[in-house]
Amino acid sequence: MTTAHTGGCRCGAVRFEASAEPSHVSYCHCGDCRRASGAPVSAFVGFPADKMAIEGKALKTFENGPVIRSFCGTCGSPVSYVDARIGDHVYFMLGVMDTPACYKPTLHAYVSEQLPFVHMPDDLPRHPKTSVPRPDGTNP
Ligand SMILES: [Zn+2]
Ligand SMILES: [Zn+2]
Repeated sequence: MTTAHTGGCRCGAVRFEASAEPSHVSYCHCGDCRRASGAPVSAFVGFPADKMAIEGKALKTFENGPVIRSFCGTCGSPVSYVDARIGDHVYFMLGVMDTPACYKPTLHAYVSEQLPFVHMPDDLPRHPKTSVPRPDGTNP
């Protein structure tokens, strides 16, 4: 039995569905995610890009170097990002999944940029920077 993993923006103009299991669920404490989300810490659910279907004319994108973030142009919800260096996956904001409680993060990334008043007392691995090595060895 395959369960579809679905989600969408706040207004419903952007919807997506994954036909594969998530390969990655994590927190990110980096400053770029913080700006993009407006929240002190972000969480993401990653799926193989070729198993994703995303629809909605309202979908807008913003490019920052190799990272392209998408959001709903109608309601402003951040939706996902792709990183050209690890482009075989799409990472969705955990909060836009239809059943967010089903996606328990397994690690923290970029704790070197974590805000000092954010305390998350779990036993998950904590990576100073990225948790997914870039093929070219860079570690922004
Ligand atoms: Zn929307
Ligand atoms: Zn980040």
